Amino acid sequence: MNYGRLLNFLLDGNFEYIENYPYSKISTIKIGGEIPVLIYPHTSEQLISLINECDACDIPFKIIGNASNLIPPDFPKRVVISTKRLDGFSRDGDFITVGAGVMLPKLIRKMADASLSGLELLYGIPATVGGAVKMNAGAFGASVGDCFYSARCYDIKAKRIITLFSDGMRFSYRSSSVDENIAVLSVTFRFRHKDKSLILSDMNAALRRKRAEQPTNMPSAGSVFRRTAGEPPALLIDRAGLKGMSVGGAAVSEKHSGFIVNTKNAKSADVRLLIDKIKQIIMDKYAQPLECEVELLEE
Ligand SMILES: Cc1cc2nc3c(=O)[nH]c(=O)nc-3n(C[C@H](O)[C@H](O)[C@H](O)COP(=O)(O)OP(=O)(O)OC[C@H]3O[C@@H](n4cnc5c(N)ncnc54)[C@H](O)[C@@H]3O)c2cc1C
Repeated sequence: MNYGRLLNFLLDGNFEYIENYPYSKISTIKIGGEIPVLIYPHTSEQLISLINECDACDIPFKIIGNASNLIPPDFPKRVVISTKRLDGFSRDGDFITVGAGVMLPKLIRKMADASLSGLELLYGIPATVGGAVKMNAGAFGASVGDCFYSARCYDIKAKRIITLFSDGMRFSYRSSSVDENIAVLSVTFRFRHKDKSLILSDMNAALRRKRAEQPTNMPSAGSVFRRTAGEPPALLIDRAGLKGMSVGGAAVSEKHSGFIVNTKNAKSADVRLLIDKIKQIIMDKYAQPLECEVELLEE
């Protein structure tokens, strides 16, 4: 690992970066220790050159969006590359191309203003476009894959820019073909025309339902466990009487048992232990294995 060389590269390339910045300040669950270097590339070209430089310096890195599906480590060792400054926007008829770092709610509001429909049921999901595509984020029966057209990506292993269309994305429940070797640079969606008032009404209904059902006023990383073939995880956790169960500052939400909330200065280790306990209890009681939807980041 050659941190000195990376820092020189960042300085020479006029990169925006911060050293020793707490993950807890950028993750929605407000957890995680100091990131050695947090870097905000402003263009796809900067992002690509940065990835190549990290590889050349043998420095492990993690690409993040809004860190809303992550449980960051207490002692991060990897450099973090945030896509949040990749904020381009262009329109060609019904096709809209946006930078991977654009926040989904912002895009949905902009589309509503233009009477363009497709993502409004996802209003309230605190994701960037890149993170939403990777996770095939969705709500109330709709998901990002529904109006996805293509993504311009950097293939990190092959070191080349590629375009992925829907058939190459393998969208399924909260999953896509985007893995650690792919960096999403920008995404093109194809929207449909619809009356603006109907779009706004769907957006508001989605937001109201989210606020009514989920602990949106507490730090969390969304649903902790994936819905699989068996019973919904939240239902089993509720039935097992685990609402409110806590480890340190992490607790099963009283409002939605599928969420773990940070009640008071929770550590990553608290969340991980709580997850293990929940899994064990549900396995013992109902013989159903639970699978994490949140990503437990390695150090
Ligand atoms: C209050 C709350 C409510 C939520 N409600 C929902 C919901 O209703 N439905 C739902 O689906 N999810 C929900 N989530 C979870 C979360 O918002 C989604 O999983 C979202 O898609 C994550 O996007 P992100 O930008 O925050 O990605 P991050 O959490 O930053 O990253 C998630 C993964 O995507 C990768 N990634 C991010 N950007 C890129 C990129 N440009 N290129 C390559 N890889 C990338 C990261 O490496 C990581 O593996 C909720 C979360 C919270 C906190």
